[in-house]
Amino acid sequence: MLTLKNINKKYADGTQALNDVTITLPAGMVGLLGPNGAGKSTLMRTLACLQNADSGHINFNGLDVISQPDALRSQLGYLPQYFGVYPNMSCRALLEHIAVLKGIDGNARKNQINSLLELTNLTQFANKKVVNFSGGMKQRFGVAQALLGNPKLIIMDEPTAGLDPVERESLNNLLVSISQNRLVLLSTHIVEDVENLCHYVAIIDQGALIQSGDVKELLVPL
Ligand code: ADP
Ligand code: ADP
Repeated sequence: MLTLKNINKKYADGTQALNDVTITLPAGMVGLLGPNGAGKSTLMRTLACLQNADSGHINFNGLDVISQPDALRSQLGYLPQYFGVYPNMSCRALLEHIAVLKGIDGNARKNQINSLLELTNLTQFANKKVVNFSGGMKQRFGVAQALLGNPKLIIMDEPTAGLDPVERESLNNLLVSISQNRLVLLSTHIVEDVENLCHYVAIIDQGALIQSGDVKELLVPL
């Protein structure tokens, strides 16, 4: 369970990107829904400990995230909206590199990488460079790297942005399959993605929480 309490963030230019956000999110696939500029990326970077909030508290399964960011990082997988890769590295070499950074050793590393390549349908492309992958393959690679270390919290910032319908559906199926036994927080501005994939949703606009709750209760078809 992830709890955010009174989270505020103002950028140097005065933009109030998060305005007193308080939410509790359950495990499973959870949507963070809001229009462009709502504050989704800011919230996700804060949860991933890549950026500090000005004030507030975050707790994940009993762990105080703001005072113990290193403890959270070992339980966290993050897929940013713009994922940079070393252009000359193969898919497998990049996964190796990220696994080393996450402190995953020896046989465990090799086994995890092989099973994540299988899960994301990238085994046959393991020795190809990620920069040359299609958009859908890049996102599947992004999911594979986020899953290294079997984290209990996965944060994905608009993962299906820019994908064609076929790639989008295949990525969505993958995301649903990985949301067992963990919290997958998915930011999107597409209501249908939340309806199709998520059981719980938090809706934000202009930095503030508008509503949160079960998708079936909140998103009623017209
Ligand atoms: P979303 O992900 O929902 O599109 P963001 O978190 O990216 O929203 O942005 C929230 C608001 O904060 C927007 O008004 C955006 O322009 C602004 N913003 C985001 N990053 C910065 C930054 N580094 N400096 C100043 N303003 C920013
Ligand atoms: P999104 O809104 O979909 O998150 P943006 O295009 O707003 O994406 O932001 C891309 C990057 O630019 C992010 O790192 C964000 O923090 C930064 N950014 C966005 N708005 C501003 C802004 N007004 N001033 C400075 N940086 C910004």
